[in-house]
Amino acid sequence: MKHLDDDLMQVTLKPGTDRGYDFVSDSEIVALKQFQPPVGIMSIYLDVRPETLAETPVLTRFKDAVKAIRTHQEAQWNHDDKVRFNMLVEALEDDLREEALTPHGRTLVLFAAPSRIRPKRGKVDYALFKTYYLPDAVPDLIEWGQTPVLTPLLVLRDAHPQTGLMLFNREEGRFFLYHLGEVEEYNIGIKNEDGSALSKASPWHGYGEHNHQQWQKEHQARYFRNVAAVLSKVAQKTKWEWIVLASPDIQEAKHLYNYLPDMLKERVIGEIALPMAATITEIRDTVKPIVDAAEAEEEKATVQFWQQELAKPDGLAVSGVADVVEMTQEYRIETLIYSEGFIQPGWQCSDCGSLVADILTEKPSKCPYCDASYLLEKSDIIGELALKVMHAGGTIEVVQHAETKALVDTETFIGAVLRY
Ligand SMILES: [Zn+2]
Repeated sequence: MKHLDDDLMQVTLKPGTDRGYDFVSDSEIVALKQFQPPVGIMSIYLDVRPETLAETPVLTRFKDAVKAIRTHQEAQWNHDDKVRFNMLVEALEDDLREEALTPHGRTLVLFAAPSRIRPKRGKVDYALFKTYYLPDAVPDLIEWGQTPVLTPLLVLRDAHPQTGLMLFNREEGRFFLYHLGEVEEYNIGIKNEDGSALSKASPWHGYGEHNHQQWQKEHQARYFRNVAAVLSKVAQKTKWEWIVLASPDIQEAKHLYNYLPDMLKERVIGEIALPMAATITEIRDTVKPIVDAAEAEEEKATVQFWQQELAKPDGLAVSGVADVVEMTQEYRIETLIYSEGFIQPGWQCSDCGSLVADILTEKPSKCPYCDASYLLEKSDIIGELALKVMHAGGTIEVVQHAETKALVDTETFIGAVLRY
């Protein structure tokens, strides 16, 4: 299909509009990762689900975390550091008090990096201040350090596959990304070979103006082949893991499935009917249950496979923190599986970077891998393990659906499926 040379097709997301949640893009995460705070940065993840708020208010949890930070770090601060930290905490308390009035989403994420300027008259200047409302709950995590803590954000992204949706009819095609409960529409620029824009006579699916009376079987087959080719290209460019096919006529969506290459067929999780003019909100509400069901199913299948492997004498599976840490160090993890909300502290060797953790929570005297004696305390070793697995090309499965939870039967479950 001539219109689809890579250089002639641009795929970008349109800026968002009406939403209750935030869509954290890859580029925002990269920007946060590269950001160098002038003095330090406060990373805040707070579970703001109604049931959690009823138990302990946001402000109480924040104050407790700040107390812990002071206990651990204050000895290393000079007078200016202390003043700045106190001002920052006061300002953030005000912000959180305000946020508590209108909670939305399930997790409030906040990054606050004060500028070097010493605050005057109670006003903090920020080098960076960012809030996000995530549609999923992550455990509380509040840290003050030299770099932002991005682990929960990254893990959340990996635990939920990016789902692409194509809404099409014979006149046009619209493309959407569903991720973490939010939907965004793509701008897809498809051009002719010479770079000129498409027209009615040469529309998006490559089928010219036609005589309706002559709309024969072969024309129809060509239309679906062309639509399938466009979808393949877009799916490749956008790295969609799952796909939903949508058309005003559900039969067209179902029919298109047959024209997809096998590699894409495997990723289709639903065919649905939607009007071409569907709004982002309509699309979100329609796609969410489909993705939820697919996630629940995948989660269960992963845990069941893990159980089967674990039962074999030479099965490709391990269980428990100590074994998972060891396998992570050896880059042998294909899929890391753990209970939602499982948080455990551990250590990282400042020499070789190895992670150290066990069911015992006592700090070891030296690194078991290189014998170095300086071990850095990590408040969320599970998140660190998950990051390491992701960097090595593995995937993350967070156990969060009731049916799968019943299979592992513990709040502190961790296991892994191995590559070899
Ligand atoms: Zn070491």
